[in-house]
Amino acid sequence: MKIFNRGSELQKYALELKRSGKTIGFVPTMGYLHDGHMSLIDIARQKADVVIVSIFVNPTQFAPNEDFDRYPRDFDGDIAKCAEHGADVIYAPEASEMYRSDASTWVEETVLSKPLCGASRPVFYRGVTTVVSKLFLLAQPDFAVFGLKDAQQCFVIQRMVRDLNFPVEIIPAPLVRDADGLALSSRNRYLSADERTRALSIHRSLETAKKRIIADRSCMDAAVKDAADAITAAGGRVDYVDILDCDTMKYPGSGSCRVILAAAAFFGTTRLIDNEIFDL
Ligand code: AMP
Repeated sequence: MKIFNRGSELQKYALELKRSGKTIGFVPTMGYLHDGHMSLIDIARQKADVVIVSIFVNPTQFAPNEDFDRYPRDFDGDIAKCAEHGADVIYAPEASEMYRSDASTWVEETVLSKPLCGASRPVFYRGVTTVVSKLFLLAQPDFAVFGLKDAQQCFVIQRMVRDLNFPVEIIPAPLVRDADGLALSSRNRYLSADERTRALSIHRSLETAKKRIIADRSCMDAAVKDAADAITAAGGRVDYVDILDCDTMKYPGSGSCRVILAAAAFFGTTRLIDNEIFDL
């Protein structure tokens, strides 16, 4: 497995691979890898000749009051897991390598990125779309795999790729959960045992709401409110619980088919997100 820290070296290597006719599958991550990330690498492994994984905690997607400094890191563990799952290349730059001190160019999606996490984390998606654009130019992927744990992020990236003509196929990957239903996340390690138990309310309440809405669409608003109340009753501080049309990221209308029921809530100081995607 090759490890690059410099973008220029990765780009040169990727362009050589392309010239020799190899296809590249790419999995961008912030590290502290778990089975959710591994499922993405497995998908890339099946699709492409060469699998590139990036490990980069991207400072531009964190607001000053967020957890950039304490975001969990385990580079050696990450390398071992990537090797086990057959990744070929790791790209792990320093922030100073990724961003020049006088960088002044952003990539921004302006519609799908606005509600949900975009409303509570105003700089988040601009940071994501900018870094993913840079990573696509460095890794030159034919395919890039994004997890539906971060479904809004996946939709925003699909829109960006469409709008800016990136020659990259975005492959959405299913959300991976622990046996008890908690969505796997690098941030789960912040949770105490008690917070972790309480946090199961997110998935449970979304599942309950989903069943009610599928059975009777007219109870949509009540089901969303009850889900938020159930998370609050379990000790969570709800950031949002909302249901939106996946194509427009607007409140579902009569023509809406595929919807996302999404939640973000704090347990202690840890902000967790989860979602259910289904047809009305
Ligand atoms: P992160 O390291 O949290 O930025 O995530 C990197 C990629 O892994 C993103 O495409 C995430 O959606 C994906 N991912 C993270 N957790 C999960 C999970 N539980 N199931 C599926 N994909 C995930």
